[in-house]
Amino acid sequence: MNEYLKNLCRLEFAVTLACTGRCIHCQNGDPIPFSKAGRIDASAACAAIRKVCAVYPITSVMTFGGEPLLCPETVCAIHKTAAELGVGRRQVITNGFFSASRDRIGEVVRALAESGVNDLLLSVDAFHQAVIPLGPVKLFAQSAAEAGIPIRLSPAWLVSQTDENPYNLRTRAILEEFLPLGIPLGSGNTVFPSGNALKYLRAYFGENTAEFSPYEEDPTDIRTLSFSPDGDVLNGNLYHTDILEIIRSYRP
Ligand code: SF4
Repeated sequence: MNEYLKNLCRLEFAVTLACTGRCIHCQNGDPIPFSKAGRIDASAACAAIRKVCAVYPITSVMTFGGEPLLCPETVCAIHKTAAELGVGRRQVITNGFFSASRDRIGEVVRALAESGVNDLLLSVDAFHQAVIPLGPVKLFAQSAAEAGIPIRLSPAWLVSQTDENPYNLRTRAILEEFLPLGIPLGSGNTVFPSGNALKYLRAYFGENTAEFSPYEEDPTDIRTLSFSPDGDVLNGNLYHTDILEIIRSYRP
């Protein structure tokens, strides 16, 4: 359809930029209050998934934020649609803290399980746990595992997983707290110089380090479509233009 998107295989939705965290490594910068952040429109997102999947062999759909589980209905609608369309990998990246209420945590976990999420990545590390209490996160993780949702711990490492800086030491101690739950450890990710990380952790990147993201797409070979909460995607906006038209008219 468009030469620059011939390898398109993944859709990512930043459901909201609102967050329960205020992490010093956050690529989004300082948090935005939920009342101002907004969320992606679920029906527009689901319609886009249907249209794109009708044309491209999409193999994975991911939701993240901010904290996506502040909007569980939107997250679940997206993954339910992806499951119905046969998308194989349906991922959520969450910090696991959207409520301290046992009942609410149970309710959201049941909805996630029913929606067909099959790869739940839980961000737990020194950065997240500087502001996010571990108790509700562990309860969420345990509930998700018991509900049969495949879940992995996904820590952010500073410099590298093996570097012995104070943040990594703290992260290892936090991960140990999850051992009794038997939740597997994923590879996580390495903090990159962007947003707050560049502001607060510059000493670890070097004074002259420029902003950089390993997730940036090659503009001439777009493999992932990334949707913002305000509907922005590629060079267009989901709420104003049909997604297939946005794809068709895209130029780097
Ligand atoms: S890193 Fe994640 S959990 Fe932390 S403030 Fe940013 S979006 Fe929120």
